[in-house]
Amino acid sequence: MADPKGFLNHGREVAERRPVEERVQDWHEVYPGGPGRALLPIIKTQAGRCMDCGIPFCHQGCPLGNIIPEWNDLVWRGDWDGAMDRLHATNNFPEFTGRLCPAPCETACVLGIPGDTYGGPVTIKNVEVAIVDRAWESGYVRPQPPEWLSGKTVAVIGSGPAGLAAAQQLTRAGHTVAVYERADKIGGLLRYGIPEFKMEKAVLDKRLDQMRREGTVFRAGINVGEDLTAEQLQDRYDAIVLAVGATLPRDLGATGRELDGIHQAMEYLPQSNRASLGADVEDQIIATGKHVVIIGGGDTGADCLGTATRQGAASITQLEIMPEPPGERPAGQPWPTYPMIFRVSSAHEEAGERVYAVSTQEFLGNEDGQVRALRLVDVVFEGGRPVEVPGTEREIPADLVLLAMGFTGPQTTGLVEQLGCELDERGNVRRDSTYASSVDGVFVAGDCGRGQSLIVWAIAEGRAAAAGVDAYLTGSTALPAPIPPT
Ligand code: SF4
Repeated sequence: MADPKGFLNHGREVAERRPVEERVQDWHEVYPGGPGRALLPIIKTQAGRCMDCGIPFCHQGCPLGNIIPEWNDLVWRGDWDGAMDRLHATNNFPEFTGRLCPAPCETACVLGIPGDTYGGPVTIKNVEVAIVDRAWESGYVRPQPPEWLSGKTVAVIGSGPAGLAAAQQLTRAGHTVAVYERADKIGGLLRYGIPEFKMEKAVLDKRLDQMRREGTVFRAGINVGEDLTAEQLQDRYDAIVLAVGATLPRDLGATGRELDGIHQAMEYLPQSNRASLGADVEDQIIATGKHVVIIGGGDTGADCLGTATRQGAASITQLEIMPEPPGERPAGQPWPTYPMIFRVSSAHEEAGERVYAVSTQEFLGNEDGQVRALRLVDVVFEGGRPVEVPGTEREIPADLVLLAMGFTGPQTTGLVEQLGCELDERGNVRRDSTYASSVDGVFVAGDCGRGQSLIVWAIAEGRAAAAGVDAYLTGSTALPAPIPPT
């Protein structure tokens, strides 16, 4: 156990972000010098608040099974390298989760019991990112190439967190792994979906460099299914891991959807991310000087909000059909249960208005076919379904509308179709208990099998699918499989 009285003597404390007026002028991460460095003065005390519970509920909250009490204790004792080893034992990329994960482990922490009796949950996510950022700075994170080669080859299709986790596990297990990505650079959503102010690309590039040095080969700019057929892929590789994500965006069928100025978030964010890194983006969708309306209250909506703020939007309104969360836990419920999709992100501190329990009835346009307003109506939930409240209709101005309502599933044309993989009843790629698809030698990891989910689930799936592939190729495996497929 860390400090036996830590949780009694110290409340929860998080690092100060840079002042809003400063940080909205640039695209850098919102913490001064990055979160790890910003946290160093307080993190030992915060790690010392962990009670090393006999039954650590934080474990159950973390899909990766992170050994949280152990690395809290090691940080409190000043054994940073030991803490890094424990963290890496279950998580390939803690610098990603420490920045991007909504921390279900903290929601599960017993110090979050009602009434704020013990000052709030342990800042697990902050401890995590402090450990890994410090380890990178000190040079402790080094390549771990395999000691022998199996002679087996694996193609990983998709370079988001699930694909990268599978690739690193399989490379370290001795297989020769190539990761294919249709975009011009490796990283999937981590590269072009996540804004710099949440995670600078240098963080991703450091990890990719480590993977290269371990032997993973990256092939960007190749759309497998078009540039390379499924048959060619199967001829070249002993196993294939599909980690193509759930990329089909949910749309809104309201009248006027065809107007100019209405875009999916994943049309807007990648362009903005490229531009923020200095690229010239032709016909860029940009929020400068516009009244921006974001439909969707989750993390992607918050990323649009922070991006539009930095681009200098005239106003930003974020709409959410669900009611505003009460902020308190329901009576009789001991654990914090607020829906993670409603988290307040750094972007919400900066600008914008959040409107809850509201539905879009219609997009209104001008004579040029450009959106100019939305007609909204309040809703209440009856029997789990939203019901419009008569008399609450009103218009709000909008020059740019961003749809951030999540994703319905994977793209099933192209490679998935060519391979002949079966789909499940939700439209995801079907897999068995070993993450194997219905096609021999083809495995499925991440959102394309699970449906849209969190980065921590994607990494856990990548690790588990790697175990399935390793067993398929060699007859057994020592790789961990932290979660079963759903
Ligand atoms: Fe520590 Fe909270 Fe986990 Fe208990 S539940 S071991 S206090 S982090």
